[in-house]
Amino acid sequence: MQVSAEVDVMLWRGRDLDTVVQAALVEPNLIGLEIDLKAYQAACELIETVDRLTPDRQPNPNVYRLLATGLRMIAQEWSPYLLGSLLLRLLQLEGYAPMVEACAVCGRSDQLERFDFASHSARCSGCGGEPVSPAVIKIAQRVLASQVREVLAQPSGAAASEFEALVARLVAEQAGRRLRSAGIRLAP
Ligand SMILES: [Zn+2]
Repeated sequence: MQVSAEVDVMLWRGRDLDTVVQAALVEPNLIGLEIDLKAYQAACELIETVDRLTPDRQPNPNVYRLLATGLRMIAQEWSPYLLGSLLLRLLQLEGYAPMVEACAVCGRSDQLERFDFASHSARCSGCGGEPVSPAVIKIAQRVLASQVREVLAQPSGAAASEFEALVARLVAEQAGRRLRSAGIRLAP
């Protein structure tokens, strides 16, 4: 089976592992995209992140829809903002959205050019945190306000890779927290 294909499976529930009784292909999705390395890597990253951030055996229709739609978009509507947008929406659905509307310390909503990763929140220039482009905070605000289409339509620029790096760091920290809270020790 192709990585990223959407399938309808019937499972026989086992104690530890389930057995596939029946499987039907719903959407081949990314078949043929292996040659497009960017899209292939984005698809793998989205799948892995969903796997890392969501608990097993707990149905989550919203996350499922995001994953299925996201894979289709990666295959058909590539944009340099796409992976970051999908991962940020995933964090939001799981209740881990960063606070980006205003500075988490003083509350001002302009000059948001810093970010504090410990508290997952934006900061203004006078309230600490690590430097981040105001354009990146704007993109995050729009994605979290469900304006993903508008973000994807933006022309590509330096902000795209910076936005993706910011989201990747949020995902990594959240996945680490989840493992720690589950009592799993991380290798140093
Ligand atoms: Zn401030």
